[in-house]
Amino acid sequence: MDHFHLKDGVLHAEDVPLTAIADAVGTPVYVYSRATLQRHARVFREALSAIPRIHLAFAVKSNPNLAVLRVLQREGYGADVVSAGEMHRALAAGMAGEDIVFSGVGKTAREMIEALDAGLGQFNLESEEEGVELAAIAASRGQVATATLRVNPDVDARTHAKISTGKAENKFGVAYDAAPGIYARLSALEGLNLRGLAVHIGSQIGDLEPSRLAFAKMGKLMQELRGQGLTVTHMDLGGGLGVPYKAEDALPGPGEYGAMVAEATKDWDVTVMFEPGRIITGNSGVLVTQVIRVKPGAINPFVVVDAAMNDLARPAMYDAWHDFAAVVPTGQRMAANVVGPICESSDTFAMGRDIDTVKPGDLAVFRTAGAYGATMANTYNSRPLVPEVLVDGDKWAVVADRIEPATILAAERVPDWLG
Ligand SMILES: *Cc1c(COP(=O)(O)O)cnc(C)c1O
Repeated sequence: MDHFHLKDGVLHAEDVPLTAIADAVGTPVYVYSRATLQRHARVFREALSAIPRIHLAFAVKSNPNLAVLRVLQREGYGADVVSAGEMHRALAAGMAGEDIVFSGVGKTAREMIEALDAGLGQFNLESEEEGVELAAIAASRGQVATATLRVNPDVDARTHAKISTGKAENKFGVAYDAAPGIYARLSALEGLNLRGLAVHIGSQIGDLEPSRLAFAKMGKLMQELRGQGLTVTHMDLGGGLGVPYKAEDALPGPGEYGAMVAEATKDWDVTVMFEPGRIITGNSGVLVTQVIRVKPGAINPFVVVDAAMNDLARPAMYDAWHDFAAVVPTGQRMAANVVGPICESSDTFAMGRDIDTVKPGDLAVFRTAGAYGATMANTYNSRPLVPEVLVDGDKWAVVADRIEPATILAAERVPDWLG
């Protein structure tokens, strides 16, 4: 459910017509709905209410905008970060260091130090080598780093290969069979408080069976560790729950996911940690764009819009689907290809799609663009960096400026020796 609706024939974000935002800010522009973010945050928390002790760490990489993070901070969420840059965003949004989890296979020594300085709550270690390094850094500073060990459960999440993370051949975590030995050795290190296990098998998961299987394997591993006299007080189950991108997508909702997790963890006696990203932010945003022109194609016309793969990379990266809808629909439909202006054939949002009829100058949206949208934007083809707007009822504000090519050009220079 989201708060992007037609009112008087015009698509609104909550009470604000998207036409008003486009007039004031220009296009392309991402528009987020606070009510939708809040609703998703609450529904997800509510779905886990049968679990006695939980910790919610919003996956910042899905949408790192400062205002979005503030909305979630006010909903009591911590953060799951994958770089020092994301950690500083979470801290700037008011999240407490202790509520932040640091994931990722390539944390540098410098990032570890910055995180220790910030009093970061938990490092999710992705290798024994990383654990040894973190322990040494913390011990040399007279500190103890709190951590979990991320395990690769060798489970196929049955999602797109590029967002699958829990198969043995993926780079994430330590091998399941090697985990007990690594856990025992890292537990013995000064400078490290190893308190549990972490798992995250992928993103846009549309089938709960792989997660159920992965969590069962993690539970078994946890019991094995406890049997060896090792301590496990926290189990981080990651994120990954998918969202519907098409009306006909039948996906398990937070309620079914929560019931599955409650069942899987009922005998665990731990704090169960979650790292939801897309399920919170996906439906909370749209990308507003303007039609530049419509040109004939071999089969269907090309609708050329002013948003491109640099603004919304998911279709080019993952063949992802985003619904395309006119901001002021006429009721007429057309078959068309929707493309951006970038000089790449992969700059294609839809081929042969049945869409609202649009003409040059019309506004339209790509829906469900709140996750992995603006955060992946870049300036390819020397295009501006796309701005972001947050709506709250009848209020709205620009929460990230459009960064013009001139600003980026100003950061470049020609060395003297080039003449
Ligand atoms: C990307 C990621 C998440 C969030 O994934 P979603 O599919 O957006 O929920 C959570 N944890 C880790 C470790 C991740 O890499």
